[in-house]
Amino acid sequence: MTIFYKFGEGLYVNVTNRCPCDCVFCIRQNGDCVGDSQSLWLEREPTVEEIISDFEKTDKTGCSEVVFCGYGEPLVRLDAVLEVCKFIRKNSDMKIRINTNGLSDLIHGKPTAQLLEGRVDTVSVSLNASSKKEYVKLTRPAYGEKAFDAMLKFAQDCKKYVPNVVFTVVDVISEEEIEACRLLAQKTGIPLRVRAYEGKE
Ligand code: SF4
Repeated sequence: MTIFYKFGEGLYVNVTNRCPCDCVFCIRQNGDCVGDSQSLWLEREPTVEEIISDFEKTDKTGCSEVVFCGYGEPLVRLDAVLEVCKFIRKNSDMKIRINTNGLSDLIHGKPTAQLLEGRVDTVSVSLNASSKKEYVKLTRPAYGEKAFDAMLKFAQDCKKYVPNVVFTVVDVISEEEIEACRLLAQKTGIPLRVRAYEGKE
């Protein structure tokens, strides 16, 4: 079972395969692995203890950042992620980033951004689109159109509690749509990163 894998300077953590979205560009549809990973499909979700034990055993040479990402939405396992972040904070100098679809508040039925305070250096939120309609078309969220506003609110809330917040879009969308996303990101004061399709979140 692959929990940690390296990609660039990141040590990626794969904690779940669950996700309330079904993005048309999801890397899960293109294969089983990323970087030096074995299959990222988990036969079961690792416990907090297993994740921490694997973190201690993993060779971290060349890695400056731990990135919660994997083949699923990490914040589906919010409590586990928070526990693991706490351990990493206490036992390592590595930066911590969470790549998320930003739907944590809907998943857990409460505001969740403040729980990341002190635990996380960067939250990268998948903006994906400039409007509800386009967002739903691309990400096919279980929550329907309300997911778009919930994602925007989560990202803005994160700004209060986390030093770095970024939005991302994947370059499967048109230049015009990327520009519209850039404007929307500007309005929120959150920088936008355009990711290449097939790249890692
Ligand atoms: S949010 Fe991420 S894991 Fe979920 S379907 Fe979209 S790309 Fe895949």
